[in-house]
This record gives sequence, structure tokens and C-alpha cells, in this order.
Amino acid sequence: MEKNILPCRHLWTCGQRIPVYSLNTLIIGSGAAALNAAVRLHAFGVREIAVATACWGGGTSANAGSDKQTYYKISLAGDLADSTCQMAADLSAGGSMHGDIALIEALNSARSFYHLVELGVPFPHDRYGAYVGYKTDHDPRQRATSAGPLTSRLMVEALQAEVRRRKIPVFDRHEVISLLTNGRGRKKRVVGAAAIDTKKTRSSKAALVLFNAVNIVLGTGGPAGIYKTAVYPESQVGSHGLAFAAGAIGQNLTESQYGLASIKFRWNLSGSYQQVIPRYFSVDPENGEEHEFLTDFFPDMSRLATAVFLKGYQWPFDPEKVLNYGSSLIDILVYRETVLKGRKVFLDFRRNPSGGGKLADFSFDLLSPEARAYLENSGALLPTPIARLARMNPPAIAIYRDHGIDLTREPLEIAVCAQHNNGGFKGNIWWESNIRHLFPVGEANGSHGVRRPGGSALNAGQVGSLRAAQFISRRYADRPEKIKNFVRLVRPQVDDLIGRMRRFLEGEDRDTQICHRIRAEIQERMSACGAIVRRPAEVEAAVRAAWKLWRRIESILKVRSAEDLPEAFRCLDLCLTQAMYLEAIQEYLRKGGKSRGSYLVPDPRGQEPCPGLGREWRFSLNKKTAFVEQKILEVRLNENDQVEKRWVPVRPIPQTSGWFESVWEDYREDRIVREEE
Ligand SMILES: Cc1cc2nc3c(=O)[nH]c(=O)nc-3n(C[C@H](O)[C@H](O)[C@H](O)COP(=O)(O)OP(=O)(O)OC[C@H]3O[C@@H](n4cnc5c(N)ncnc54)[C@H](O)[C@@H]3O)c2cc1C
Repeated sequence: MEKNILPCRHLWTCGQRIPVYSLNTLIIGSGAAALNAAVRLHAFGVREIAVATACWGGGTSANAGSDKQTYYKISLAGDLADSTCQMAADLSAGGSMHGDIALIEALNSARSFYHLVELGVPFPHDRYGAYVGYKTDHDPRQRATSAGPLTSRLMVEALQAEVRRRKIPVFDRHEVISLLTNGRGRKKRVVGAAAIDTKKTRSSKAALVLFNAVNIVLGTGGPAGIYKTAVYPESQVGSHGLAFAAGAIGQNLTESQYGLASIKFRWNLSGSYQQVIPRYFSVDPENGEEHEFLTDFFPDMSRLATAVFLKGYQWPFDPEKVLNYGSSLIDILVYRETVLKGRKVFLDFRRNPSGGGKLADFSFDLLSPEARAYLENSGALLPTPIARLARMNPPAIAIYRDHGIDLTREPLEIAVCAQHNNGGFKGNIWWESNIRHLFPVGEANGSHGVRRPGGSALNAGQVGSLRAAQFISRRYADRPEKIKNFVRLVRPQVDDLIGRMRRFLEGEDRDTQICHRIRAEIQERMSACGAIVRRPAEVEAAVRAAWKLWRRIESILKVRSAEDLPEAFRCLDLCLTQAMYLEAIQEYLRKGGKSRGSYLVPDPRGQEPCPGLGREWRFSLNKKTAFVEQKILEVRLNENDQVEKRWVPVRPIPQTSGWFESVWEDYREDRIVREEE
């Protein structure tokens, strides 16, 4: 990896000598979105840039995947008509997504996709050069493509190679703990960042590093660390607290995706893992008693097996797919077994589902015609799920083998896991946040609405980082602040940070487990109240508990040594992140919001998901005319540390004139890339 080669000065404060690097843009994170921002900025001629990352090779893009990890782009092959306007409409059809952002993600999808192709990501094409597509969830066309189970890792590898080739400096093992800002209100802007160099934490005095930057690109990924049950890779924690503390506005924080995943090795169980129709069973951890619990609620094997099959391409939990024995009933039943009954749930690929004496045993004749035809066309009408999987998708078995799990010999433990946040920080059409010069990109940017087509997260990450780079290169490419001025602006903020670090380290009675316990408390609370099931009374209590912890956290966080400081700051960050997310959920419920997207809000006046499940599971969906369906919820921490909530109208998809001569004139006159009015 390219070492940092930026000139370094020093700031003396509180008895410490702190390195200060000055540059135009600091890119925080090294996932697919952050790396693309670095590559694009460099390509557009901005040379004073660097990447600072907690872990080169860490994060979701580099470590997550599924049986066929999807990249969504405009159709580029075949005779199915497509258009950028149609794609924008489909991207925003799930609700609560701004139309101009959807249009930009559609318009720039081909450019971003071909950029990855040129960098060497092996997206498959035919002999004529057609990048053929397939249909993914919430996709009416065939816009999806894939480079296999590890598409996003292949993207990261290609972008990493390009960062190296361009000799872009990388500060690895640098955990950013604070964004440095100047000004108030609409004039507030980011002027730099403070990080801990985690290679140097043996000595607390050597670890703090400052960046004097004109711009910050925030590519820190999703808020994985707030959940106990998650399929985000362990290396992804998230750093939303950084930006909330700086006053950045979050939007659609209520909207995340939850679905079935294995937990020992965190991996999405979508696509062929379900299409081969494995056996679901649960085990009592006390006495080892096994039970095929789906048979308690599905009335016949035909509907049970078809629902499992459909889960393959209806992967995220969706309350609209629960009734009439839909595929999302399975998520509810798995949740009930694991969370409410405390049993362990497994997928068994060695045996077909059995009826357990109540229903007929599995047979292909009982499948829906669509499911049966799919298996037949795949040459997979074979006796066991594992034989079918071996025929349809051998890499899906290999990936588990590589992680010490042999699907031919053992069942796979699963749970309903948090996977992706559709919401995040608000950005304008150039991905700049309300804090000027701060550009959240990738999953940190909440550009999606309630639902999104599968694969559009990776597209949004590439498009958003391209847009941020375009804007910075044209309008914010200035030299960094003189060091003297920078020091004057940020000294009080830096002194505060040093004071906080010292408080974490002081005192005799240090509780060595405190960080662990704080994280566990946060994660238990979020997975219990703020994930797939959101009971209004529990959410109210959770908000109070989250703020109670926030008020106490600085006084109880004591660490043994400077080596534990990064974890202390992570706890602080997660604590604020959780409080803000729960505030958003509470606000949504108080405005009468019901089940939608990927979560269920129990409603005594609603319908039971299926007979026999119990009144406590009754739920209902929002009417199209409901207040919450017309607006987007924005949440932020204001300068008095109070939470401000605002419901803003959804901006429509812009109608552009598309007249070549006028666009050309604007382009020649440099009127295209400009600040928002
Ligand atoms: C199992 C799974 C399957 C998925 N499948 C799909 C799919 O098929 N299609 C799709 O479009 N999307 C999918 N997603 C979502 C998609 O993979 C992610 O949204 C995307 O990869 C996020 O990329 P990113 O660059 O924003 O962040 P990440 O790749 O998560 O990178 C974040 C980076 O920030 C760094 N970082 C964080 N905090 C700090 C800090 N304070 N200081 C310094 N560095 C920091 C991390 O170390 C990391 O390098 C899936 C997600 C999961 C979990």
C-alpha cells in the first residue's frame, strides 16, 4: 500500500505534539464508495488527497456477499426497452426517495458500471459484448448483474489497485474520532478531522493525528455496530455518531433491511440457498429437542415449500409479503423461535422438509409451477437440497467450506439479521451534506427510500462518490487553510478531545469490561426494539434508555490503557448513533406509521400474519395517503444538543428539457456544476 507522503507539521497543545497533515480532501473509509471517491478525485486532477481508514480491507464491501451479489444498473443488453427516467421511477417507487437523487443514480449508473469494468471487475458479458442482466427484488426489468458471490470485494480490489497505481496516500489503522468544524447554522462547515493512529496507541501521546482538510468525504459505511444480530461483517462498525455530533442531518433512518443469514459465518441466505428448498428446524438448547416449526403454521407442504423457494429472490423481510403464507412469514417464524422462544434455528441442506406427520412430506409435485419450472430448467430436480445446490451454485457450498462449515455434513445456524441501512445522512444533488464541505457517500449517505431494488446500494455508492468528486474538483479544489489559521480554529475542539481521552484513562477503579458491556447493552436494545419488530411502547422506553446511557457514558467509560481508547470512542459513537436512530423510529410511530419496508409494527387492530400465531402479531400497512408516506423524516442534533425532527416533502423526479443546444451552452459557460440555490 502507498505510504502517506503528505507534508506534516505539528501542533503543540495540552503538553502533546500532534502531527497535522494539510490537504484538499480527506476520504474517510476504504470501502467501495470511499475508494471510488479517491480514484475519481485523482482522475479529475485533485492531487492533495488521502484516504484515512480504520482498516484497509475492512468494512462491508470488502467482506460481505451472498450467493450472487448484485450490482444494479440500467439495462445495457437485450431487447427490453429501458430508459433513465424509467429507472429513476423504479428506484424511487418504494417511497420516500427524492426524485432528483433517483434520476442522478439512474443517469450515472452506466458510467459508473463501465468505470468498474475498465478497472477490471469481471462482470460477465457475452461474445458480442452484451452485459446481460437478470431481475432482482423490486426490479421490473433485468437491470441486475453480478460478478459472483463477492462482487463488492472484487470492486474493492480493483479500486484498491487503482489507488495504489495513482499513488494516493493511505493512512491505514487511522480511526477518525471527530470531525472538526467551523461556523454555525447554514454557514457551518467541516475543516478537518481528528484520528487515532491505532498502531501507536501504546503511547497515548503519540496516537492523535489531525487533518487540515478543505473537504471530507465520509465513506464510513452502515451503522452495523448498533445491532446484536447482524450480517454486516464484524469489521464494520460504522461511525454515524461522528457526523451527528457535527450536526449533520440524517434522513430515512427508520428504513433498514433485515433478512435471513447465517450467524457463525455471517452470510446472506438469499438466491439459490432458498431456491433449493432446505429443511428449516429449531433446537431447544436445554435438551436438544428438534422441531420443524414451519409445519406448525403452514397449512400444507405446497405453500410451505413454495414460500421457502420464493425467499430466494424475495430476500429482505417485507410486511407486504407476509399474508396468505407469503415468503416473509418465514422471517417472522424464525424470529419467534430465536428471539421469543430462545431456540436455535438451522437450515439443513442434507434433507428435504418433512411434514412432521401434520403435512405431506416434500415432493416436487407440490411446488408452484414457477418454482418447479425453475428447478427443472436448472437441471436441479435432484433428491436433496445439497444435490440441488451443488448443481445450481457450487461456489455457494465452497464459500462455507472455506469458512469451516461443511453443508454436506452439518446444518447451518441462522437468524433474522440487520443487513443494510437505506437511510443515512442527507446529501444534495452533489452529495454534499448540510454541513458544507462534508460529503457522505456509500451507505453512510441515506439516498434510498423505504424499499430499493436489490443491488442499488452498490450503484448508489459509485454514483455518489463520482458526484462528490465532480463537485469538489470544480468548486472546492482550493488549497488547505494555512496551518496557523487551522490551529486557531480547531484548538478548542482538539483540547476537548484530549481532555476526554485523559478522563477515559484516569481513575484507579477501571472496569476492564466496560466497553464490552456498553456495546452489549446498545446491541441488545436495538435488536430487541429497533430492528425487524418495533413495538411502540418498547421503542418509547428504548429511547429513554439510550439517552440515559448517553448522559452517563462519559463518566463510566474508563479504559485500562491507551490501547483501548479507540474502542472507547467507538462506544461513544454507537451510543449517539443508537439514540438518533431510535428517536427517528419513535417519531415515525408517533406520527401513526405502521409496518412497511422491512419491519413489522404490531397493531392490535390489524390482521394476524397467519391463523394461530397470536393476537400480539397483528399488524397493518400504511395507507398510500398516510402522512408518513408523503414525506421524508429528517433528524439532527442541533447546536444546543437537542434533537430536531422535520418531515420534508419528497422531491419529484425533475423534468429536464433535454435540449442539446441549451445544455451545451450551460456546459460551455460552466453553469452545470454549481452550488444549490
Ligand atoms: C451480507 C450483505 C450482502 C449485501 N449484498 C448486496 C448486494 O447484493 N447488492 C448491493 O447493492 N448491496 C449489497 N449489500 C450492501 C452493500 O454491500 C453495502 O451497502 C456497501 O458495500 C457499503 O459500502 P461503503 O463503501 O459505503 O462502506 P463499507 O464498505 O462498509 O466501508 C466502510 C469503511 O469505512 C471504514 N471506517 C468506518 N468508520 C471509520 C472511522 N471512524 N475512521 C476510519 N475509517 C472508518 C471501515 O473500516 C471501512 O473501510 C450487502 C450488504 C451485506 C452486509
